[in-house]
Amino acid sequence: MKVAIMGAGLSGLACAIRLEQLGIYPDIFEKRGSIGDRFVNGEVLLTIFSRPVRDEISYLADQYQIYLHPTGHIGEFIIHSEHEQAKLSGHLGFSNIRGRHENSFENQLGRQVKSNIHYHSEHTYEELVRDYTHVIVATGDAEYASEMRNFEVDLTVTLKGATVEGDFSRYCVMCWLDDRYAPKGYGYLIPYSETEANLVIAFPDELHSTPDSGDEKWKLFYERVCSDLGQNFKITDHFEVNNYMIGQCNEPRIGNSLFTGNCLGTIMPLFGFGQFPAMLSGIYAAEDLCGLGSYIETTKEIRESYQNSMILRKWYEKMNNSQKDKLVKKMNGYWGEKLLTTQMDVLKIISRFLRWGGK
Ligand SMILES: Cc1cc2nc3c(=O)[nH]c(=O)nc-3n(C[C@H](O)[C@H](O)[C@H](O)COP(=O)(O)OP(=O)(O)OC[C@H]3O[C@@H](n4cnc5c(N)ncnc54)[C@H](O)[C@@H]3O)c2cc1C
Repeated sequence: MKVAIMGAGLSGLACAIRLEQLGIYPDIFEKRGSIGDRFVNGEVLLTIFSRPVRDEISYLADQYQIYLHPTGHIGEFIIHSEHEQAKLSGHLGFSNIRGRHENSFENQLGRQVKSNIHYHSEHTYEELVRDYTHVIVATGDAEYASEMRNFEVDLTVTLKGATVEGDFSRYCVMCWLDDRYAPKGYGYLIPYSETEANLVIAFPDELHSTPDSGDEKWKLFYERVCSDLGQNFKITDHFEVNNYMIGQCNEPRIGNSLFTGNCLGTIMPLFGFGQFPAMLSGIYAAEDLCGLGSYIETTKEIRESYQNSMILRKWYEKMNNSQKDKLVKKMNGYWGEKLLTTQMDVLKIISRFLRWGGK
């Protein structure tokens, strides 16, 4: 068996580590000059989005000997709406860094890989399919899957963010739900350390309308966060991602090509969480090649979560600011904490209820 992995991101590297554990050394092809060679940004793993797994970091370590060190565990999560605020405490998840930072998740995974990584790769999928017995398509975008007519895009998103300097608690993550600067979307603050954080707005692109640079929205958001935290943040870096595709492939495996990570459809439409399912999909792809379970079967749960998340997104998109205020008010304290820390897969339950209610 001769395996090529296209893309040295979360799903591609997780796949390589699992393959190596099972005795196969793939060739990895990465188009960039090094792992994670892009803007630095903060991301989170929220346990509510990974049920039934309650702790993604220990799950990856215990089940698959994949070791990741997050920036911090999230002990407090503050949700702001236009007029309300909910403060939730408990073990709610982890924050981590992505991109060219030496401790980014992809760099941590990269240090656990022994196989050859070919950087600045210009190899096309067609060449890899010809030269290898199996190809893992882990490119983090749906380009190849789309070209092969194997991907349905449900929405595209603009993400506009900055690295800011200020005073932060690395154990506290915040989000803002307010249509004025993130229509149908959200804004968030994820600390990298006590002095640096990532400040981002993410909102879906409107179909058939002229693209919005988001500059005005970003300015409003920045002012709101400065005012809420009583600080004037210094911006040291910024990034923008346009047309970030959220969708699902039709077939997780076509012949001997397996689609992982965002190419499979691991980015959840509600709030864009995708790191954990991306890594799992890479692991499942490796196990399929080694006869440890059909990829179509093992990814079923991820694909179902995607559908549930899409239902929740549609429900969320219908909410105006005063409804968001009501929701956030209800979430403050006991019920919010129960929702975020319960063992149950609450998102699955709520989406089933919405699906049933919508009939
Ligand atoms: C700004 C932003 C914020 C996010 N925040 C969160 C969050 O807080 N929590 C969360 O869970 N998820 C979040 N996500 C989603 C998460 O980052 C992705 O779901 C995850 O990285 C997908 O992993 P992947 O393996 O599919 O792709 P990636 O990790 O992006 O890796 C793809 C790799 O393939 C390479 N590549 C691309 N094309 C080619 C090619 N033709 N040949 C070779 N190599 C190629 C790329 O250079 C890259 O290294 C966020 C995404 C963005 C953009």
